[in-house]
Amino acid sequence: MDTKHLYEISQKHMWLPFTQMKDYEEAPLIIESGEGVRLKDIHGNEYLDGYSSLWLNVHGHRRLEIDDAIKEQLDRIAHSTLLGAANVPSIQLAEKLIQLTPEGLTRVFYSDSGAESVEIAIKMAYQYWQNKGITEKTKFVTLANGYHGDTVGAISVGSIDIYHRVYSALMFNSFAVPFPSASWHPSGDEQTAKEESLAAMRTLFEEHHEQIAGLIVESMVQGAGGMHMMPAGYLKELERLCGEFQILFIVDEVATGFGRTGKMFAVEHEGVSPDIMTIAKGITGGYLPIAATVTTEEVYEAFYGDYKEMKTFFHGHSYTGNQLGCAAALANLAIFEKENLVEQAARKAEYVKKLLTEINTLPHVGEIRQLGLMCGIEIVKDKATNEPFPAEERTAYRATLRMRELGMLTRPLGNVIVFMPPLASSYEDLDEMAVIMKQAIHEISNEKVYAEN
Ligand SMILES: *Cc1c(COP(=O)(O)O)cnc(C)c1O
Repeated sequence: MDTKHLYEISQKHMWLPFTQMKDYEEAPLIIESGEGVRLKDIHGNEYLDGYSSLWLNVHGHRRLEIDDAIKEQLDRIAHSTLLGAANVPSIQLAEKLIQLTPEGLTRVFYSDSGAESVEIAIKMAYQYWQNKGITEKTKFVTLANGYHGDTVGAISVGSIDIYHRVYSALMFNSFAVPFPSASWHPSGDEQTAKEESLAAMRTLFEEHHEQIAGLIVESMVQGAGGMHMMPAGYLKELERLCGEFQILFIVDEVATGFGRTGKMFAVEHEGVSPDIMTIAKGITGGYLPIAATVTTEEVYEAFYGDYKEMKTFFHGHSYTGNQLGCAAALANLAIFEKENLVEQAARKAEYVKKLLTEINTLPHVGEIRQLGLMCGIEIVKDKATNEPFPAEERTAYRATLRMRELGMLTRPLGNVIVFMPPLASSYEDLDEMAVIMKQAIHEISNEKVYAEN
């Protein structure tokens, strides 16, 4: 392999997602292969996959059962369209998904990415009310600091300022209610933050429910917003409020689904059953781009009728329901069952909690937030006041570059270091990752303080 040529071409012709290409020029990385929880670059350097290849991977890379399922499917067919015609593995996967998702969800609408599953949820909720003749219900409510993907519809219900502000004239307007985080609330008290957020939601619903089609929230954890957890009882109360005001409750499980939080779906922490649920990321074990928007018979029926009634959901993508992807998803879910993986992940999360307690003793580590194997480590300049390092110093980013040198990959969210190991990581893998994180955070944050003194 001509590694020099690969670098040259990557610099000359590639444009990577969510990446300042000047940063990439300074610290390029080209992955060549993977095995288990390790990735290998074109020079043969190995890296622990500390972010599950951007929150996707479940059983590690090159897991035999999934590899074989894709190969077997390939011997039949790679892809045929789902527009007007189903295919075998997409039906089998729909049956499985309905078994696994909360009661009340009965219909699976496929797509290819989390953002698309959200676009579909939005259009579905909107058209649901149109088809029912309640045409003034056209607005959406979201939580401040929420993230639902990067397409225009998804950013219109998202509210992370640094990602979305530049597109403000392009987006449709949504209502945003404060997220109930103790760390942002002036009182520092979770219960107060929760009560205020719920009161704001109720007031908004009272005043505007006639215009509101749906409320969309991430399930239990705001991921891209920096790993913030909902207080107990909050999601359940949102479900109740939506019911009271005839607003569709849309829960985004793209990041949290498939065991990531220690339950198959994070809504199970609260016994919630939404009207619409979006799923993606872990669905194929991190192998292939399959996503789905799952909904109730009630929503489905609003679209059902003679063609001339014009109730059809006119939405679809070329590769939707791809057979190779559905076969991978089926093999992925079979391993979940065989290995009792969700329970195992919950136990590993307890172990990770201990490892993170150790990291929390570092002088520049602030709050550490965790639900299951979804963790955020906040890097602060001053532990006592939680004062952050100046943003332009990019301390967390530099810590992740140091982790790369030490043999582990992850990406930060602002001043928060993301730790999301594959669910199948062994206890030894987790130990190794924790050691690397601790060393890198320690070195980088202290280096900064010395430089200032
Ligand atoms: C990642 C993510 C998305 C977007 O999924 P893509 O597959 O990257 O488009 C949507 N919602 C949440 C909560 C996510 O974490």
